[in-house]
Amino acid sequence: MRLSVAKNIGFCSGVRRAIEIIERLVQENKKNIFCLGSVIHNELLQQRLKQKGIITVDSLKDIKKPAYIILPSHGVPPTNIKEAKRKGLKIVDVTCPNVSSLQRVCKKLRQEKYQLIILGDNNHPEIRALLGIAAEAVVISNASEIELLKLDSRIAIVSQTTQSIENFLVLVNKFFEMREKIEKIKELRIFNTICLDNISRQKEVRELANNNDAVFVIGSYSSANTKRLFNISRMINPNSFLIRDYHDISDKIKLKFKKIGIISGASTPDWLVDEIIRKIKSKKGE
Ligand code: SF4
Repeated sequence: MRLSVAKNIGFCSGVRRAIEIIERLVQENKKNIFCLGSVIHNELLQQRLKQKGIITVDSLKDIKKPAYIILPSHGVPPTNIKEAKRKGLKIVDVTCPNVSSLQRVCKKLRQEKYQLIILGDNNHPEIRALLGIAAEAVVISNASEIELLKLDSRIAIVSQTTQSIENFLVLVNKFFEMREKIEKIKELRIFNTICLDNISRQKEVRELANNNDAVFVIGSYSSANTKRLFNISRMINPNSFLIRDYHDISDKIKLKFKKIGIISGASTPDWLVDEIIRKIKSKKGE
């Protein structure tokens, strides 16, 4: 069996930074540490953080000072930050710098009165945080929705950081196909706000899917970027599998694929990736 392991695997830089900050808090023996929503979309990691005493909450309602509140890597709406300050909580902001940059872009575009169109998933916390900054923004999940929109004369397009670059390009091209609408648009600004780590992983998963008998995408079903990698791979190679832990692959190893590509979502811990690769190599656990 030959394993091809992606270069971009394990935590992305944004998640790694977030975990390092949180682990420092734990090492410093801080008490009453809460996280507003999942710090990262991976259940195994959530369990580990829980064991270290970090409590995930959906709202700030029941938290009283003295306490630390972690603002997760995909960001939170400004109202949450105001409330945390009002309650005197110690804020530990682990928002990924790429997400913060997207938030700044949206804030500026809103101030400059552009009609803001966001390609993304309305239910994702990153988008909910953005709508807290620019409530009037229109969120669309695919390019065809643009045809139904009433467009202003000044438009700006951005994307959720974990969108697929293909979807984004389809959306951008769609504008130039809508001749009647484009004639009325005076200004169209396009910001590619998909993070580079995601773009690299999407490129790599395509290569792995094309060059292997099977692809294992390690990560969680709750992680948007893991699911996207899996879907990209599955469209190219039907032998694509989303792997949460080693138990998900023992059956597939028995199928004896000769060439297996391995990649992970950006929120998949390095230790999980290492453990899975080690066990595949030793073929134990079956
Ligand atoms: S996937 Fe990109 S935007 Fe999201 S946390 Fe990682 S580096 Fe940041």
